[in-house]
Amino acid sequence: MGTDVAGAVPLSAAHVIDVAIVGAGLCGLALARTLTGRGLQVQVMEARDRLGGRVLTAHCQATGQALDLGPTWLWSETEPRITALLAELGLASQAQHDPGDALWLTDPNREPERRLERGGVHVGARRITGGAARLVEALAAALPPGCIRLGAAVTGLRDRGAFIDVLSEAGHPVRARQVVLALPPRLVLERMQCDPALPDAVLNAMAATPTWMAAQAKSVTTFANPFWHAAGHSGNAFVRHPQAVLGEVFDASASEHGGALGGFVALNAAQRENFRRGLPLLIASQLAQLFGPQAQDGTPFLQDWSTEPWTCSALDRANPPEPPQNDPLLRQPLWAGRVFLGGSEVAAHGAGHLEGALESADRIAHAVCRPNAKVRTAAQQAALQAQTAADDTRPTRATAIGTFSASVLTQRGMAPERYRLHLTRLLSGQQSEQLTQRALLATADQVYSETLACLDVLLPALDTASADVIHGRHALTAALLAPFDGWNKGLLDAALSFNGTSCALSNFPQEHRPDGEMLRAITLDLAAAWREFVLELNTRLLTAAASAVTV
Ligand SMILES: Cc1cc2nc3c(=O)[nH]c(=O)nc-3n(C[C@H](O)[C@H](O)[C@H](O)COP(=O)(O)OP(=O)(O)OC[C@H]3O[C@@H](n4cnc5c(N)ncnc54)[C@H](O)[C@@H]3O)c2cc1C
Repeated sequence: MGTDVAGAVPLSAAHVIDVAIVGAGLCGLALARTLTGRGLQVQVMEARDRLGGRVLTAHCQATGQALDLGPTWLWSETEPRITALLAELGLASQAQHDPGDALWLTDPNREPERRLERGGVHVGARRITGGAARLVEALAAALPPGCIRLGAAVTGLRDRGAFIDVLSEAGHPVRARQVVLALPPRLVLERMQCDPALPDAVLNAMAATPTWMAAQAKSVTTFANPFWHAAGHSGNAFVRHPQAVLGEVFDASASEHGGALGGFVALNAAQRENFRRGLPLLIASQLAQLFGPQAQDGTPFLQDWSTEPWTCSALDRANPPEPPQNDPLLRQPLWAGRVFLGGSEVAAHGAGHLEGALESADRIAHAVCRPNAKVRTAAQQAALQAQTAADDTRPTRATAIGTFSASVLTQRGMAPERYRLHLTRLLSGQQSEQLTQRALLATADQVYSETLACLDVLLPALDTASADVIHGRHALTAALLAPFDGWNKGLLDAALSFNGTSCALSNFPQEHRPDGEMLRAITLDLAAAWREFVLELNTRLLTAAASAVTV
């Protein structure tokens, strides 16, 4: 049986709730907070006996340090949602420690080479002070009692017409009008049965979407102090030879009183299985080869995510790690708008990252919150009345369109700089493939994501209900898209002109001056992102109009 978190009120078998969310990772928790805040009755079902999913913070008793064994970094310049959420929850962040030289070990029989990485290795990266689990704790604390059920592994969904049965091994099904699967798509594919079955195209897209970092293992070793700083080392190291144990090392020190070195294990899941017992020793000797004998005496913490059945699918374990990728098909609602796929892997912006988990939660909050006269709760009704009462002080539609256009123009102005930031991040992450294409797409997705967030704020003032809808197109769509005229081409031109003068790209001729084939691929990518954005913008206008009509 599942356990309820904090004073659960058990639901009777016949009770139908508004929304069931499967997965209490960052996406599920953030979404639950938004939906419960809007008065919806929500049940979060979590397979593990803890919250947070891939967010996991261990604590070193000896040094008092919080150690992130899952996500560590966020990038404020390119990740607005996570940055805003931390501020809203009153959580601090600190810059990743980078000053000093980085060590490169390319031959196991030689001393590591010291390199000064100009601009640092983790450009702009920040860490949540006290560990990423603080974020999870703060989100969970904002939920009503009984909202989360732990130890409730969902095994499938059954469409019962007026509601959906969410089946689990933890007792009777939870009955919900809408369901959000806030977990990696490959886990949905491998672990859940849906009746009726999901379309083949969606199942194929799930199979092709890797779970970011799922097959990785991360280590953090703690020390009484960060002794490597005194020797001029930043704590960053790259080990690039076939016997590498840790491929990448970084400073993970998390308090004034101790030091810590984090690292990503270079051995794959099968190799780690073979070396399981000896791995801590191998890590210690690798650290000692890099930073000297003192590094041999740390306290090791190790998390192998490939052995976590609620993170790593069989497909993730069997395949080499792939960069985050997402398929717009996975953002389409299923079962006539009653089932949504969530989680970081399906985000349009920041896929694979904490930012992506929040982006995905935001998008689904819109779709789920579509008020329906039949299901509206008393709290929703009160919120709508309060909103109507405040109408007099709202800006007019013309002002709202003006504000929206100004915001788009600001975003357009910032886009070339954002492109450079995305590019720098790819380069500092030792990426070498499709750099222009990926940085451009990340920039476009970021602009669209922020534009939609701006639209959300302005929706009430846009008075969407009093405008025509012709062939499914809301009359305001064209006016709102107008400031984007020529934007894709302008962005591409700015990117190419930057690439042509970039020293950092001179080692990548294909990126320095992309050929016709690559330019075609980039143009197609940008066009697909644009199409998805236009559809989403139009849908939000239609949804707002429909909900206003049913008040
Ligand atoms: C080692 C590592 C390092 C990382 N580093 C970074 C970083 O530096 N910066 C960054 O931004 N991101 C990083 N990430 C990625 C980041 O952790 C994820 O993008 C984010 O946490 C995903 O959140 P999510 O809610 O989408 O999914 P998850 O956190 O995977 O949550 C899904 C939840 O669903 C639950 N679940 C699964 N199956 C079922 C089921 N059948 N029934 C019920 N519940 C189920 C799981 O237990 C889990 O709690 C890292 C990840 C790892 C593993």
